[in-house]
Amino acid sequence: MSLIQNRPPVGPLHRHISLRPEVQALPDVASLVQTLRPEEPLHCIRPAVITAAAQAFTASFNGDVLYAVKCNPEPAVLRALWEGGIRRFDCASISEVSLVRRLFPGADIHFMHPVKSRAAIREAWIINGVRDFVLDSADELRKILEETNTPEAARIEARPGLFVRLALPETGAAINLSKKFGADAATAVELLRAARPHAGKLGVAFHVGSQCTDPLAWRDAMALAGEVIRAAGVRIEVIDVGGGFPAAYPDIDPPPLGAFMAEIDAAFDELNLPGVKLWAEPGRALVAGGSSVVVKVQLRKGNMLYINDGVYGALADAGALKFRFPTKLLRSRPSPGAPDAAFGFFGPSCDSLDVMHGPFILPDDISEGDWIEIGQLGAYGTCLRTGFNGFDRAALVEVRDPAMLETAGYAPQDDIEA
Ligand SMILES: *Cc1c(COP(=O)(O)O)cnc(C)c1O
Repeated sequence: MSLIQNRPPVGPLHRHISLRPEVQALPDVASLVQTLRPEEPLHCIRPAVITAAAQAFTASFNGDVLYAVKCNPEPAVLRALWEGGIRRFDCASISEVSLVRRLFPGADIHFMHPVKSRAAIREAWIINGVRDFVLDSADELRKILEETNTPEAARIEARPGLFVRLALPETGAAINLSKKFGADAATAVELLRAARPHAGKLGVAFHVGSQCTDPLAWRDAMALAGEVIRAAGVRIEVIDVGGGFPAAYPDIDPPPLGAFMAEIDAAFDELNLPGVKLWAEPGRALVAGGSSVVVKVQLRKGNMLYINDGVYGALADAGALKFRFPTKLLRSRPSPGAPDAAFGFFGPSCDSLDVMHGPFILPDDISEGDWIEIGQLGAYGTCLRTGFNGFDRAALVEVRDPAMLETAGYAPQDDIEA
């Protein structure tokens, strides 16, 4: 069963409670919970945190920044990113393409999934003005060239931007993407040569894997990209260093953003490719801190809490990937307080895989009826909600709270010149 359903990011049961332009006027989570006493999961978006992360990233990256929409396609999130200076979007499906086009008629949209349906290529090219496509095989190159050269497409003067996605050796990332996507070096050389005569612009792209905490992974990837470009012997216009930039979680305190940018800049200088531009496609690093979910405790059995959200909701990565997330108790009744203890969670579905071992640290007097705010869910969290077993209700609010964990380099108070 798939965790991701083909539904709009804001479903019919996903009420949008408030959308105020002034962040200062937004409520804070604790007082919201006090007044709403939410019975369903409450998704709390922090637009100011997202805007600040986007500003910090665009200020320190030496090129164009594309936001990877799959990480969180919520319109309120996309608007906060736009506010922070993001004007380019990395989309992987035609639904993402049309969502971004609807919200931002002037945005640049790039189709960066190496395997696309022919219909999606056509619709993106003809209707949505998408000009850049990624590929990692000769067959996909042929698909892109055929679908952008139909009689219907004849009025479009441009030639497609073609990006060859390079597979990378294992890095220190939490999630490796090179097992599924990417051409080996020899194939990439052939693809660059084959694509050049047809390309409006030609690029090399890679992805070191998501939540990669080792800045050297980019240096190694850039070196490999350089070898491939040299071996191909053709001119290119762009190197796209992908996403993978890490966020902070309770047991992960990644190096500051500047450390990653320093490696990328140094490696790029070494390649000595005048006229070539750098692109990046961050997802997680821009939005992880930008959302939390408030859940309600339905039952306590020892140190296991049965809560009203789980792995089929916003907490998928707390299950299979064993991510830990920061937690905060919001009591439903007064208490003298209690020392912290380690808890695990059971989600609301009848499925025994709906378990999150954490450990999640909470006061030991937590009980049925209390709420827990679970943080750092802006990336691959709030957008993974499914309707499995009927637990698909949630409400969405925008709040003014800071991120529950601050990642060095993305924090709002950080010097963005760094
Ligand atoms: C998922 C994805 C990204 C974003 O990755 P993060 O780890 O969230 O930064 C960027 N580019 C592509 C092609 C992706 O599939």
